[in-house]
Amino acid sequence: MIETRNLRHRYGGDDGPAAVDGVSLSIADGEFVVLAGPNGSGKSTLVRHFNGLLDPDEGEVLVDGTPVSEDLVAARTRVGMVFQQPRDGFVAATVGADVAFGPENLGLPREEIDRRVGEALAAVNMAGRRDERIDELSGGERERVAIAGALAMDPGHLVLDEPFTGLDAPARESVVEQLRALRDAGTGVVLVTHDLRDALELADRIVALADGQVAVDAPPAEVRERLPDLGIRVPPASERESPVPGRESTSPEREP
Ligand code: ADP
Ligand code: MG
Repeated sequence: MIETRNLRHRYGGDDGPAAVDGVSLSIADGEFVVLAGPNGSGKSTLVRHFNGLLDPDEGEVLVDGTPVSEDLVAARTRVGMVFQQPRDGFVAATVGADVAFGPENLGLPREEIDRRVGEALAAVNMAGRRDERIDELSGGERERVAIAGALAMDPGHLVLDEPFTGLDAPARESVVEQLRALRDAGTGVVLVTHDLRDALELADRIVALADGQVAVDAPPAEVRERLPDLGIRVPPASERESPVPGRESTSPEREP
C-alpha cells in the first residue's frame, strides 16, 4: 500500500508554486493505477515521493504504513521505479549485469541474484539475452531491460514514468503486454502517462492531476467524458482496434 497524505512539494523554496499541491491518495497492493495529466501537472514530482527520491514540504508518504522518511530502504525495496528514457538509468554494459545491479546492492547470495535476474528477464521476454550489450538494443528492448531491473528487486509496486516516450507502436504494444502480465501476476502498477491509448483498458483506476491536484480519481469507464476537459486525450473505444496512421506526429501532448 502506498499512501500520500496532504502531500505538498515546492521546488525552489517556500514562495514557489506547489508542483504537488495537497495530494492524498491510497494505492492498494495489486492495484493498477494510471496517473494521467498534462505536462507539468506534477505527475513525476508526485511519484518521486513514493520511494523517497523527493521529500515532501508538507504532508507525508507511507509505504505499507511506514513513513518513507523513516525507512528509505524499505520504501525503495517495495516500490520499484522505471524512469522516462531509461537510457540514462543503466549502470552496466550488458543486460544481465544491469539487471543484477539492484539485487547485488541488497547483498543477496549469488544464486538468489541469478534466480531473480533469470525471472525478471523472462518476465519481459528477454530470457537468454543476459550477455547482450545494452547499447545495441532497440528502444523497446531497453525499456524492457529497465523494467526487468526494477522487477529483480521483487517490488510490490512498479512505478513507470512515461515508459512509452520515444517508442514506436510495436515496442509500445510489447511493453503494454509486459504490464498486463505483471498485473495478472499480482504486481501493483502505477503507470504515469499522458497517452491513454494503450493504458486505459489495463487500469483499475485513473487518477488525473491538474496543477498539482487530483482532478479525477475514478474507474476507466467513468472518466472518458472528464479527461478531455483537462487536456488529456482519450481514445474513442474503437480506436484501439483500428489505429489511425500518422497520429504519432499529430499528438498535441507529445513531449519534446
Ligand atoms: P509532469 O511529470 O506532470 O510533467 P512535473 O512533476 O515534472 O510534471 O512538474 C510539475 C511542475 O514542477 C512543473 O511546473 C515543472 O516545471 C516543475 N518542476 C519539475 N521539476 C522541477 C525542478 N527540478 N525544478 C524546478 N521546477 C520543477
Ligand atoms: Mg513527468
